[in-house]
Amino acid sequence: MQENIIIADKGPASQTGTWQQQLSQAVRDPAVLCQRLGLSDKWLPGARTGHQLFEVCVPDAYVSRIAPGDPGDPLLRQVLPLANEALSLPGFVADPLEEADHQPASGLIHKYAGRVLLIASPACAINCRYCFRRHFPYSENSPSRAQWQEALDYLRADTSIHEAILSGGDPLAANDRQLAWLVEQLEAIPHLKRLRIHTRLPVVIPDRVDDALLDWLSATRLQKVVVLHINHANEIDQSVADACDRLKQAGVTLLNQSVLLRDVNDDVTTLATLSERLFEAGILPYYLHVLDPVQGAAHFDVSDEEARKLVASLRDLLPGFLMPRLVREIPGKGSKTPL
Ligand SMILES: *Cc1c(COP(=O)(O)O)cnc(C)c1O
Ligand code: SF4
Repeated sequence: MQENIIIADKGPASQTGTWQQQLSQAVRDPAVLCQRLGLSDKWLPGARTGHQLFEVCVPDAYVSRIAPGDPGDPLLRQVLPLANEALSLPGFVADPLEEADHQPASGLIHKYAGRVLLIASPACAINCRYCFRRHFPYSENSPSRAQWQEALDYLRADTSIHEAILSGGDPLAANDRQLAWLVEQLEAIPHLKRLRIHTRLPVVIPDRVDDALLDWLSATRLQKVVVLHINHANEIDQSVADACDRLKQAGVTLLNQSVLLRDVNDDVTTLATLSERLFEAGILPYYLHVLDPVQGAAHFDVSDEEARKLVASLRDLLPGFLMPRLVREIPGKGSKTPL
């Protein structure tokens, strides 16, 4: 029974309660966030301003990885609203990806050949301040079972589509009953080969990777890819590494996408450490996105020139398979655009 002893020892970062309970108990008040992290009152007015534009949401499991008393903590920077979010800057707009133009069916975005995005959940388990979806009209994009029929008909009719990408929001914020149903519908479509899931939940609340999720994930005939979203090595503690192990044991290929963010991961050592730590957890770096020019996130911007220089220096430090591809999303293009 040695195995049980190992499994029981989840280390200091382990949380109590189901993932749903952890999500419902997330920090949603800027004053509580500042107080929990020992930040001085001078951060509060800015945090309140930003919170009014895009509300604070940070589960405890993520708060536990933030160093108290350090306003520059790279995880804190991703979740603490700042007064700067109220600034309007030229070029930083509400829908930078113009996704509203590519929705042939409710909840479905088809921009690239062979693969489609399905908006499987409007919600996220964390609100990242730089998110390009902060202005997304989610209420119009959360289909019920009946409404999925239109998207499923679209997929059935187009035999060139081989991959369904569950996206959001965060698709794993949906419950497992809904997800199991959707994946059953998808795997009944003969020309679909792959199921991809774009999610930050296993990072934010590692207990999301529970038996109910692993049951439907293990059962599907589709090949499975989970693309995580991790921007800094500090986001990967033992509980996240354990969640990754469970996903791998269910036959999932694990990839990661990051966003290049000012004062979070905009230096070569931080990016190299991230790639190393990802690989230790069984994850391969996939994309490093430059910031989408979303209104309220300009203070995270890193120029293209600086981004290219950083990635060139990174290439001198890392094996090729630990190099993320530096890309930008340009509306109207048939793929992400390498920089
Ligand atoms: C990013 C994206 C994809 C996936 O692109 P990959 O290059 O295959 O990772 C698919 N559809 C849409 C609309 C996207 O934005
Ligand atoms: S988890 Fe992803 S979609 Fe949700 S707020 Fe963060 S970056 Fe945006």
